[in-house]
Amino acid sequence: MSGGHLRLHGLRKSYGTLEVLHEVDLEVRPGEVTVILGPSGSGKSTLLRLVNHLEKVDAGFVELDGELVGYERRTTRRGEVLRELKEKDVLRQRTRIGFVFQSFNLFPHLTVLENVVEAPVSAQGRRRADVEPEARELLTRVGLADKADARPRQLSGGQQQRVAIARALAMRPSVLLFDEPTSALDPELVGEVLDVIRDLAHGGTTLVVVTHEIGFAREVADTVVFMDAGRVVEQGPPDQVLSHPRHERTQAFLAKVL
Ligand code: ADP
Ligand code: MG
Repeated sequence: MSGGHLRLHGLRKSYGTLEVLHEVDLEVRPGEVTVILGPSGSGKSTLLRLVNHLEKVDAGFVELDGELVGYERRTTRRGEVLRELKEKDVLRQRTRIGFVFQSFNLFPHLTVLENVVEAPVSAQGRRRADVEPEARELLTRVGLADKADARPRQLSGGQQQRVAIARALAMRPSVLLFDEPTSALDPELVGEVLDVIRDLAHGGTTLVVVTHEIGFAREVADTVVFMDAGRVVEQGPPDQVLSHPRHERTQAFLAKVL
């Protein structure tokens, strides 16, 4: 994995009259881990979907490794304008941004190995023979080498989520986004998924993780971002944001989840 420098600048997003993101700036440097915390409805998932261009920004931009996501800059007589990229270019960009959801969304009819192999072959046009050994390595990395031939329904939720992580990594993304990756899991399965994410963090993968797991944030994050009502209220090193929050809203949130 190379690159992984993510920059969000002045992001705004509304749904109808509801302004969901007010003006969000965020920078995640290569190899850094950013954990986003915040109450339900504060705009965390929307933020991740804008990064991936699954939703369109109303204003501002997302840049990955110096390249705009979803748009290109065009110089016209009126000056510089942003023009939306064609679907196929957006899809190409999206392969560099791995996304792991709360619900694992594995293909139920495919084996575990096939789930991991599928996208690099179909979306990136890579040769199956090259992808398969890499997929097996990734399954080993997430502790599931022996499940390659199983179907998703034969696995626990924690195992399925680890397959989803392997599948995201198979695209060799520059950055990996996690949206509450352990929220749908039984409590006893949360640890095994966090262990995998922790390994990725230590391995230098650029990560953005939305989670309510404060202990994980404290241990793994380089930067903790607290969002509320569509704004970044506070951000900084875990010790600062989690142990010495400056803002009343951060304090109130932490008092509830800790
Ligand atoms: P979080 O992930 O922090 O819980 P979300 O980003 O999911 O927050 O949602 C932020 C706000 O935007 C919520 O009020 C939610 O109801 C609203 N919202 C999210 N997606 C849509 C959508 N597609 N249409 C209308 N409102 C939406
Ligand atoms: Mg959410």
